[in-house]
Amino acid sequence: MISNRMKNLHPYVPGEQPKDRVYIKLNANENPYAPSTKVQDAVVDFVKNNPMKLALYPDPDSLELHAAIAEMLNKTGGVLCNAVVDGEDVKPSEKDKIPFTVTPEMVYSGNGSDEVLSFVFYAFFDSGKKLVLPEFTYSFYPVYAGFYNIETDVVPMKKDWSLDTNEMLNRASKNGSGLIFANPNAPSGIGLSRAEIREMLLKADKDEIFVVDEAYCDFGGESCIPLLEEFKNLLIVRTFSKSLCGAGMRLGYIVANPELINYVTTVKNSLNHFPIDAVAQIAGVAACKNPAYYCECAKKVAEERETFQNFLSEKGWEYIPSRTNFVLVRNPKVSGEQVYQKIKKEGILVRHFSTKGIEDYVRITIGTKEQMDALKKAMEAI
Ligand SMILES: *Cc1c(COP(=O)(O)O)cnc(C)c1O
Repeated sequence: MISNRMKNLHPYVPGEQPKDRVYIKLNANENPYAPSTKVQDAVVDFVKNNPMKLALYPDPDSLELHAAIAEMLNKTGGVLCNAVVDGEDVKPSEKDKIPFTVTPEMVYSGNGSDEVLSFVFYAFFDSGKKLVLPEFTYSFYPVYAGFYNIETDVVPMKKDWSLDTNEMLNRASKNGSGLIFANPNAPSGIGLSRAEIREMLLKADKDEIFVVDEAYCDFGGESCIPLLEEFKNLLIVRTFSKSLCGAGMRLGYIVANPELINYVTTVKNSLNHFPIDAVAQIAGVAACKNPAYYCECAKKVAEERETFQNFLSEKGWEYIPSRTNFVLVRNPKVSGEQVYQKIKKEGILVRHFSTKGIEDYVRITIGTKEQMDALKKAMEAI
């Protein structure tokens, strides 16, 4: 009964969302803070006062949302935790300043960056050309490669967990294929600088797509948005799920040159014309118009991460210094599986991967101060 395609599907396994007990959730890199009250008010107002809008189709092209995203990026420089907040006003830090204006035509949005990534795979990666991937990165990339029947060419990490950028470029050139990686990367939390990525772009084939997934950039990475004027093959994927406290709203977006945006829009209009519902569009616009709140949230998370890493050093845990809202952590004496189980017993969920090479580690999302205090207590007892 089922298709041959179906037999070869290997779905992504998300972080668990158990219902049996209320856990402190530090396992899916969600933001521990609620969306801004302006988002809450906008959604309530919309549902109460515009019910007919729920009876009608939403704007298929989310134009208001794209304008709001572009404006937010221009104000923040694409790194919330560095931006300078002055009351409701926000400006980018010196080093994040974008040397041109991001326009709405440079933005595409979809139902979470997972859907956006899937359309990017469809639009730019071909079966028959092996796609170059880092050994450890966002585990949805190989899933999409399988879904679209694209072979992969997996490049091992360097010893310090950083990306082997030279080897990735060599193989992409040999395979005649594009590139995709997350920056900062997951689950390592390590980031490449914009200068390093520019070096890669200079060496890479200008006729092949170069995708950088900036899901975690707002917590302390360096955004590649300032490189978009120089490189027409660069496509940046970002999400509301982490730094914009909106994983439940399912909003992800692309920033790239309009020509690339048009290709992805064509895929969307061939598959799911209305990926973002009317309520999510309203919520997304309200979030983008309140960058000061989200800057404060990102700053709190980044500070809490530094405090947590100091704790780890003091207590003899090993970790990879992170620029994201999570840390990859290992106890030299206790297995990753056991660490995960022991922390879970205390009512806290962290993420353990049984994949060879990282099975000794757990990935811990940075939560509120109270959540991290509870976590530290559980870790000290191990
Ligand atoms: C969380 C994450 C995503 C998915 O984000 P959604 O917008 O929730 O689909 C994409 N890429 C990376 C690297 C992520 O960690």
